[in-house]
Amino acid sequence: MGRLYIVGIGPGSRDLRTLRAQWVLERSRVIIGYNTYLGLITDVLGGKEVIGAGMGEELFRAGVAIRRALETRDDVALVSGGDPQVFGMAGLVLDLIARRGLELDVEVVPGVTAALAAAARLGSPLSLDFAVISLSDRLIPAGEILHRVARAAEADFVLALYNPINRDLLVEAMGVISRYRRGDTPVGIVRNAYRDGEWVVITTLSSWGEYVDEVDMSTTIIVGNSSTYRYGKYMITPRGYERKYGLWLR
Ligand code: SAH
Repeated sequence: MGRLYIVGIGPGSRDLRTLRAQWVLERSRVIIGYNTYLGLITDVLGGKEVIGAGMGEELFRAGVAIRRALETRDDVALVSGGDPQVFGMAGLVLDLIARRGLELDVEVVPGVTAALAAAARLGSPLSLDFAVISLSDRLIPAGEILHRVARAAEADFVLALYNPINRDLLVEAMGVISRYRRGDTPVGIVRNAYRDGEWVVITTLSSWGEYVDEVDMSTTIIVGNSSTYRYGKYMITPRGYERKYGLWLR
């Protein structure tokens, strides 16, 4: 039986892959993943058995990965964009293994998730408590998503919104957030972070709608909390030192 690696490849560019991810990808004989992600790791695919699949075929990919790992002595890598736990394949695969009562050696290899990649492009918006929320209502009902958005907004978490694929739900979510945050709260929109076609803008909660057409499947939206501010091209959430040291920071 081979070992099954569930590998986060980071947001896209090769230099944001971890050394562990690179090592695992190089030694695995079988590599399975969503076609877009395979396109980001062509440098390690040579001479391998490569199994691609389209979007929404997650169950298929998970099933194939488990089967291949059980039937071969080789190492098998199932790749996920960003980090494999964050709305990725790790939870699905481990859950399937547990439900089927299988014995399989699995290693989850962490990666730089989209929230961190997008945030780095914006400056440092995630420097206080933050919540990562997926706006995909493919598996979770919209009402439940909006409830979480509201509670996180109320609790003043900085918000990192993934999967803004349902335009109406995105507009509704931003409306819910606006009930708890000022209109001039900074909003960062990052598309294709660390990939070709990267695009970044900092706007506000009252004006973000001007950019709604720029938002696609590869976009992460970061909404600041009550202390987040903008300085030029940076979105900054201060750590809170000013509360303790006050004017000394000047
Ligand atoms: N496991 C991935 C997330 C999968 S959900 C991770 O940890 O990053 C897919 C969502 O992630 C997209 O809809 C988008 O919101 C976000 N995303 C993934 N890659 C991105 C990138 N390079 N730039 C901006 N957002 C990205």
